[in-house]
Amino acid sequence: MRQYWEQKREVPDAILMFRMGDFYEMFNDDAELGARVLGITLTSRDKGRTPLAGIPHHALESYLAKLVDSGYKVAISEQVEDARQAKGVVRREVVRVVTPGTLTDEELLPGSRSNHLVALAGEASVGVAVLELASGAFTVFDCPAASVIDELDRIEPAEILLPEPTRGGRHPLEAELRQRLSTAITYRTPSDFLPERAEQVLCEHYETTSLEGFGFREVGSALQAAGALVGYVRETQRGVAEHLRPPLRQDLADFMTLDQATLRSLEIERTLRSNARAGSLLAAVDRTCNPMGARLLRTWLCFPRRDVAEIRRRQGMIAAFRDDAHTRAGLRTLLREIGDIERMVGRVGVKRSTPRDLRALGAGLDRLRDVRELLTTMHAANAEGLIGDLDGLDDVANHLCSALAPDAPLGMREGNIFAAGYNAELDRLRSIGRDGQRWLAEFQARESQRTGIPSLKVAFNRVFGYYIEVTNPHRDRVPDDYVRKQTMKNAERFITEELKTFESEALSAESRANELEYDLFVALRDELTAHLSAIQAAADALARLDVLAGWADLALDRSYCCPEFNERGGLEIRGGRHPVLEQSLEAGFVPNDARLVAGKESFALITGPNMAGKSTYIRQVALLTLLAHCGCWVPAESMQFALVDRIFTRVGASDELARGQSTFMVEMLETANILHNATRHSLVILDEVGRGTSTFDGVALAWAISEHLATRVGCRTLFATHYHELTELGALLDPVFNLNVEVREYEEQIVFLHRIVAGAADRSYGVHVAKLAGVPAEVLDRANAVLNDLERTFARESQRPVLAAAQRRRLRQLRLFEEPEEIIVRQLRDVDVDALAAEDALDRLRGWRALLGGASPQTPPGAPAP
Ligand code: ADP
Repeated sequence: MRQYWEQKREVPDAILMFRMGDFYEMFNDDAELGARVLGITLTSRDKGRTPLAGIPHHALESYLAKLVDSGYKVAISEQVEDARQAKGVVRREVVRVVTPGTLTDEELLPGSRSNHLVALAGEASVGVAVLELASGAFTVFDCPAASVIDELDRIEPAEILLPEPTRGGRHPLEAELRQRLSTAITYRTPSDFLPERAEQVLCEHYETTSLEGFGFREVGSALQAAGALVGYVRETQRGVAEHLRPPLRQDLADFMTLDQATLRSLEIERTLRSNARAGSLLAAVDRTCNPMGARLLRTWLCFPRRDVAEIRRRQGMIAAFRDDAHTRAGLRTLLREIGDIERMVGRVGVKRSTPRDLRALGAGLDRLRDVRELLTTMHAANAEGLIGDLDGLDDVANHLCSALAPDAPLGMREGNIFAAGYNAELDRLRSIGRDGQRWLAEFQARESQRTGIPSLKVAFNRVFGYYIEVTNPHRDRVPDDYVRKQTMKNAERFITEELKTFESEALSAESRANELEYDLFVALRDELTAHLSAIQAAADALARLDVLAGWADLALDRSYCCPEFNERGGLEIRGGRHPVLEQSLEAGFVPNDARLVAGKESFALITGPNMAGKSTYIRQVALLTLLAHCGCWVPAESMQFALVDRIFTRVGASDELARGQSTFMVEMLETANILHNATRHSLVILDEVGRGTSTFDGVALAWAISEHLATRVGCRTLFATHYHELTELGALLDPVFNLNVEVREYEEQIVFLHRIVAGAADRSYGVHVAKLAGVPAEVLDRANAVLNDLERTFARESQRPVLAAAQRRRLRQLRLFEEPEEIIVRQLRDVDVDALAAEDALDRLRGWRALLGGASPQTPPGAPAP
């Protein structure tokens, strides 16, 4: 217990798992906490004075996962000497501290997501340092305090380090961090964040005398954060983290800004409703074959670029892969085989690779030659750099593959790690074991002959070692030099001097071989340190290739096109499709055009009935813009775009009630954010504004907001609304123009064509949708009556044409939401062919053609061709 308490003092804020034989034990408060979180039995020792809870050593990973997932830190204390050789109490040491942001174990990390540790320094301008310990990727940037949370949201940290606030105070960001991100927060002493301390830690870690070599003139808040972060990593990893890359400075201006609201409402990573990956943009465009690519894809989607050259590079590689099926398929097969070498490198860096790990690393690196060969035959302007990054590791690959046994084990202490021929002494020790088998066979034959006992057997067991077994009927023939070891029911077991000598030699050879293998393995792992950065560069290149080859596959498979830059600041999409919805609707998805011209026609006001496709349309334009900035091709016939600094969305009510804000309040907060921060270069998507208040308030607000965005800001805007009153803006303000979603009325039916056409919608069919949703008939009747009154008043006042009451009554009986094909099939079935006059038949045919969206007399002039 004295040893325990000493270690507990070292790691006061972690649960200490103390190795005792085959168990990890927790004591006292840790035991109570651990038992509760893990659902294991709480016992006690010292006559009930010390609470105790333990887990079997082989199950450590799964219990660790549970504790870390619940936000706890866990310190692992191992026995660091052989219990058989220890004098007194076995020496133990805390070998690592596992925290949510410092995971490296394969079992604790999902392959498709990065696990980020973040440190924040400074207040007005915040320095942010971001590390993925599992791979060593390390970036820093400066960020205005107001947008820190949004930036962190797309980084998705697992753990955030903050300087401990002075007595009683709170860190200014803490409340918001806790509210808006579900991330573990770890406080560190403020001195860790001081410039001098940060510089010292970084220089020490990277073994340099100054940070200028990394491109940092002075130690600003970004480096302070980096210093605090590296200090923490060294502490939790006990100084061992050789794979950390030097901090790479990033400029947020190189990336399109996406705030939390936009990331969520565009469903980039997860759906709004079920928080699931399926149904998100990420899932729709993920064709990666390797976890490294899957992680990079997520980063790319959350950090679209504003760098024309980089976007063009990505587009070019996609084009090259698209046109070269052989290379694409070959590369994707190789990527599947190569495995997650980025994380294997991480485990080398923290010295936790298993023999199996290194063997897999060798096998993965061994494939790089094939990847290079494939790329050289492909005609891609940008492939050379990538080929270069994949070069220079063949010797490492050969070395690992020839050194390690093909089926190298997970454990380091039980031998069988190395291939024959790797080490002469190892081979010699192993041959003693092998020759031993032959010697034993001879010995058995010899003894059998000497004693005249044909069934005499020589065997081995773990407890008694080697023995000679004689069955009871032959007991009389046992010679005098046999020493009795054990008596069984039907037999007796003996040992002789000769066998004893053999035993000690054989056993010591085996254990010496195992020890030697352990030492050789540690040396091999340490040798790899020299190649870490080269392997990291190769891993980067592979991840990039994986995303781009996957996107080429997607482009080909789903007929995506390569977006072009539009220097005049316009956005023009022909035949665009929603990348997610088109995959679930397949052939049923109706493509649409979009055109927003900066300064002139920059503001599209979209009206139309519920369920017609307004939201789909405006999101589609935003998603295509986003994909284009990622360098991805897009689901459209053609697209031209100008760089966007930021996509803003104000879409639907999200579940913010938990934050204690009404839906309307959230809506206005989001709108205020847009009005303050949108620029001429932003793309703004508004789906209903002003809904949560009275109609007059709502219309008034929506009107004023539209005016501001259209004339003051001049950003490209798509605004879907129910407020038909707003359509008049089209006539009043130059940049504003009206679009609506085409609806066709056909023989008592309303059919949604999901086609966006020019002009304003004339009605909204709201009561019909209510009916469809099961609102009781009486209420619907009453609503229709009120609607008639309102519309009559409105028509009198504004002289606007409204539908006649008679027509409205007729529409009340309509069945909504039947697809044109369904209607046609139903009518075809009902046709009495024999009784049908030729002229009627022609009429029907015409009607059906019209229903399918043939030439339509209703299409307003100037509308995009169907
Ligand atoms: P609104 O915003 O007008 O109420 P939505 O955009 O939510 O309507 O669309 C309602 C449904 O209509 C979608 O879930 C989808 O099934 C269908 N839809 C929308 N746009 C299209 C389209 N372009 N092609 C085919 N179906 C569409």
